[in-house]
Amino acid sequence: MKKTKIIATVWPVSESKEQLEKMYTSGINVIRFNFSHATFEWAKPIVERIKELNQEGKTQLSLLLDTKWPEIRTGIVEKKIEVISGNKIKIVVDETKRWENDIFCDYPYLLEDIKVGENIIIDSGLCNVKVCEIYDDFLIWEALNTCTLWNKRHINLPGVKLKLPGITPKDKEDVLFAIENDYDFIAMSFVRNKENIQELRDILKEHSATHIKIISKIENEEAIENLEEIVAHSDGVMVARWDLWIEVPIEKLPFYQKEIAKLCLKYGKFFIIATHLLETMIENPFPTRAEVSDIYNSVISSADCTMLSGETTTGKYPIEAIQMMTKVIMETEKSILNIHNDFSNDGLTIRDIEKKSLIKHAISIAEELDAKAIIILTKTWLLARLAAGFRPNIDVYAFTKSKKSLNFMNILYGIRPKLLESWNDDYLNNLDGAIEKLKKENNFMAWDKVIAVSDIQKHGKEYPIIEIIEVE
Ligand code: PEP
Repeated sequence: MKKTKIIATVWPVSESKEQLEKMYTSGINVIRFNFSHATFEWAKPIVERIKELNQEGKTQLSLLLDTKWPEIRTGIVEKKIEVISGNKIKIVVDETKRWENDIFCDYPYLLEDIKVGENIIIDSGLCNVKVCEIYDDFLIWEALNTCTLWNKRHINLPGVKLKLPGITPKDKEDVLFAIENDYDFIAMSFVRNKENIQELRDILKEHSATHIKIISKIENEEAIENLEEIVAHSDGVMVARWDLWIEVPIEKLPFYQKEIAKLCLKYGKFFIIATHLLETMIENPFPTRAEVSDIYNSVISSADCTMLSGETTTGKYPIEAIQMMTKVIMETEKSILNIHNDFSNDGLTIRDIEKKSLIKHAISIAEELDAKAIIILTKTWLLARLAAGFRPNIDVYAFTKSKKSLNFMNILYGIRPKLLESWNDDYLNNLDGAIEKLKKENNFMAWDKVIAVSDIQKHGKEYPIIEIIEVE
């Protein structure tokens, strides 16, 4: 089994029960719902379908809701506007003052925030313009290329510190949907600073849902400026390469991808490499050489997950794309020998730091004794998250009684989460149950050496323990 996990985005080509099951057996661990497009009516039955498949034991899939978050767009136009390179166009921020060939921008502070000479990117880079003149209620820009503009196109203002609200009413509704429908992860688009993350944490707290893990999507220049605080305050991070590419010069993208990876490893946070990993397989049954190298490099950079978007939403070969990703990941992992670098104690309690120390030593003992595996017994996901932070080379089976914890652990590098139905608060009972289960699944044989780590409860307190066991 592979250590690097796969997230696949669901859409009509991948929403049937049969297809979801096939996607799971082909290698995916997490299903992403992109709420830039999804509606509650469409998503709800699919969420139910996935829960049913999990309940029937056919899949073990976690749910991720990807939010839309505040964005800037053009308005509605009567007919398509043909923009010729070098043409000058008027932009208004008050729609009532728009004439036929003017363009409306729904960011009310545009005229205050932008400067003459700065560039604006429209429609994900299809139309690039430069600001020439700024007046009280409009500005003039010059088109840098020829293109056609239609309704509600995306506008990016690279380098501009936006006065957008942290969370919009639509995002709040989506977050409430995630809470009501038991999603495990919320991916927060266009995060700009730690205050944005706190705003989401406050909503989760207000609705008793602090268990939901927050993934910050790094997709603009401001997020890059505040990267360290964003990583430190998130549960996980996504390198959202599509939008990031629009906001920063494309040649800098690989550098930022590496910087994000470095910081996530420094803080022991999980991270996801997203977008264009197998873009060609939307249309073709095979990838390009560069795409295969991209997956290889993502795995080598210690990503917890790689993500598929268009490949499993509108693509002609969703299953083949997942199989290809799994194949490349598994081949890459054969050549990896991770070094178990320590990571920051930031945000950890003294008890958590004790657990971290325990797991670090469990990994080192397991390697020294050439043990078959590490078994973690955990009520929450914490021990597993700490283990994943050290990037174990050895197999790590994480047992829990909680389906929620199981789902959280699904996203972590190298962790094989398992439900222990016979769980009670007795350490030996749980350990025996875990070993029995692994023996039944043919993972262990008699005389195999195993390192067990647990945070058992004794007299209402947690006692972290570590044990070397020989399987009987
Ligand atoms: C991205 O920008 O790469 C991304 C994954 O986000 P979205 O699909 O919302 O554009």
